[in-house]
Amino acid sequence: MRRKLVAANWKMHGSRALTEQLLSALAARPPSCEVAVFPPFPYLAQALALAEGRLDIGAQDLSAHAQGAYTGEVSAAMLADLGVRRVLAGHSERRQYHHEDDLLITAKLERAFEQGLMPILCVGETLQQREHGTTEATLAAQLATPLRVLGERSALLTIAYEPVWAIGTGCTATAAQVQAAHAFIRSQLAARDAKLSKLIRVLYGGSVKAANAPELFAQPDVDGGLVGGAALDANEFLAICAAAR
Ligand code: PEP
Repeated sequence: MRRKLVAANWKMHGSRALTEQLLSALAARPPSCEVAVFPPFPYLAQALALAEGRLDIGAQDLSAHAQGAYTGEVSAAMLADLGVRRVLAGHSERRQYHHEDDLLITAKLERAFEQGLMPILCVGETLQQREHGTTEATLAAQLATPLRVLGERSALLTIAYEPVWAIGTGCTATAAQVQAAHAFIRSQLAARDAKLSKLIRVLYGGSVKAANAPELFAQPDVDGGLVGGAALDANEFLAICAAAR
């Protein structure tokens, strides 16, 4: 039985005051599911101190390099040194605005594993790809390189299915669309190794709210959510967590 995980991606939002407010609210009313919060880099240390080990704090990105002359980059070793436990890789905003491809994303996953970080690999199709009937081909392609290169280490991945057209748009995928995509992702994992498809958690992300979380999280292949906008409101996020049983 896979335990549900709800992850909060704050993106480039927040402040010291908001970090204090959101993490204090989570500490006051700890959710029963597993929770991970991904604040922007400058607030990681504050978030770690406030979380006091009660929930995982993660970074939204990491460098594909281990160390060196890479101005502006943050290494997996630095994150691990700080006490960070998780990291996102391949978010569609990184793919779109920073031209990250599957090879670069795979290198980031390797750096994460080298430092004992638990990565969430984000995959998902654009609206155009869905309309052209290439959703499954897109997901298969985004999974192929990481699964091939990581081999047995893939068992330590979490995957987030995030259709690009549903991220930040208020346009949530239907429960049937989500279940179909998650089942397809699981079939790709099973094609590599039957145990992967049973072990790996597949989260849904894309305009998750308290109102739609219960139906989405009730789908058999949905193991929780990756929540953007709604994670910036403590009550809304706690209500989403409550839907993850
Ligand atoms: C995200 O950024 O991963 C995300 C799912 O955002 P939102 O919930 O705002 O659609």
